[in-house]
Amino acid sequence: MFKVFIAADIEGICGYVDWAENQPEDSLHRAEMTAEVNAAIEGALAGGATDIVVSDMHMLKQNIYHGRLSGRASLISGTKRRWMWMDTVQACDLVFLIGLHAGGGTPAAVLPHTMNTLITGMQLNGVEAGEAFISAACAGHFGVPVGLATGDQAFIEEIGTYLPDLQTVVVKEAIGSCAALNFHPEIVKQKIKEAAQNATEKGIKGGFKPFCLPEPVELQLQVTWPGYAEALTLVPGVRRKGGREVYYSGTLPQVISVISLFVNWISKAI
Ligand SMILES: [Zn+2]
Repeated sequence: MFKVFIAADIEGICGYVDWAENQPEDSLHRAEMTAEVNAAIEGALAGGATDIVVSDMHMLKQNIYHGRLSGRASLISGTKRRWMWMDTVQACDLVFLIGLHAGGGTPAAVLPHTMNTLITGMQLNGVEAGEAFISAACAGHFGVPVGLATGDQAFIEEIGTYLPDLQTVVVKEAIGSCAALNFHPEIVKQKIKEAAQNATEKGIKGGFKPFCLPEPVELQLQVTWPGYAEALTLVPGVRRKGGREVYYSGTLPQVISVISLFVNWISKAI
């Protein structure tokens, strides 16, 4: 048994350069997202994986066409999850991050952000933490390494700063924050399939190390409006630092709980 967990976002998919006015995302980009996940699944199976679970991590998290997924993969969809988009990773052996994007504030990146645009900055143990960083830390907490990442050039450069041994595929280069030079989707999918196969073969041999944050993990979170910081201080242990910043220190599960509470509940309610 070798189970691969694929977390998939849409901002780092080939051809996706701007947010749609309304959910759900249009069928063109949902189809490309599904196809790039399929390329990763097919590579994983060719590399020796026996089981695949896919986690949709974009907005309402109902973008992937499940019936079109290869490999009879299971799909986790929907919001308000305890581990953000990493629930069940503890039952898996290797993580792929497909279609991710750079963290909030990154220059020369396509749609850089960290979870939602109400968060202006987030640091874990003093390091700016984007969504890939959170994914790797959650997986690492359970001893599961990341083996593959795909997205725009800026995101691949970002993840290389803390996970230097990954298989990676660049699918586009930013021309601006809402524009990109996209490589041809067929070339992108071929590269993803090859990289996924290589990553799985290496993962089966134990070639990747889990990314573990030393505890206690220190969270600093900056938000757009003081009311959000105020709401977060209702959580025991969360301290206010100025009008729009909070600080918290705890185990990784506790820190992820605070982040999930903000992203899934507080930022929706105020
Ligand atoms: Zn997204």
